[in-house]
Amino acid sequence: MIRQKELEHPFYANPQKWIAENCAALRACFGKPSIHTCVDEAVQPRDGKFATYSVGAGDLHPNQEGLAKNLKEMGVEEVDPHVDCGGNKIFAQKNNLSGDPDAEGLKWAEGFVKQLGPNASVHQITESELQRPPAFHPALAAVFYGHRAGFNRNLGNLPLVFKMTDALADEQYALEQLLQIGTIAWEHGHGDQMDKFHFVALGNGRDVPAKRLEERAWLAAHELNKRVQKKVFNVVAGNVEC
Ligand SMILES: [Zn+2]
Repeated sequence: MIRQKELEHPFYANPQKWIAENCAALRACFGKPSIHTCVDEAVQPRDGKFATYSVGAGDLHPNQEGLAKNLKEMGVEEVDPHVDCGGNKIFAQKNNLSGDPDAEGLKWAEGFVKQLGPNASVHQITESELQRPPAFHPALAAVFYGHRAGFNRNLGNLPLVFKMTDALADEQYALEQLLQIGTIAWEHGHGDQMDKFHFVALGNGRDVPAKRLEERAWLAAHELNKRVQKKVFNVVAGNVEC
């Protein structure tokens, strides 16, 4: 049922064509970021703001100092972890933390945010704000971009998507995050019922051409297809400048 509802979005009739024909809508999704939050499809920046994204809102990022420096340069002043976050579960496990994983994720955010300046704040996204059922990941696509910008799906008539920028990570960690997104979609989403999951590689046509992102997204798609032994993971690409 949930899968059917997702597939009703015109994007899924022909993802590659939809991207080519909806460049203006896609461009409207990008702007100056003020929030950093999780790649989870259920979290969105509120009030028409733009956000940058990494798994667990950054608690698993291997270069915390570099992440903070990048976010500060971009003007991000808010970190939004969320409840029911798989990233927080991995974070708590990795660090042998015995508390509730989402409470540990919140504690991490409250420490991390201090590096973003005296006015920086944390907003924990609660269950009522999540745009998905608890512990289920209905999204059948992930937006993957490489330029230093914020993104807000709601501003461009996109379907429910995971989202991630690799402008905040080295290539290895960016690939790891794509693999995590695909694994979450498979294991905690439609799994066996899934006939396609799309990585949407969005270049800006200038410093980050779609082609480069597309090649990288295919690395993740090939690896995931090997793991699930089905050609489920697919890549579509385009530029947001038009
Ligand atoms: Zn999360």
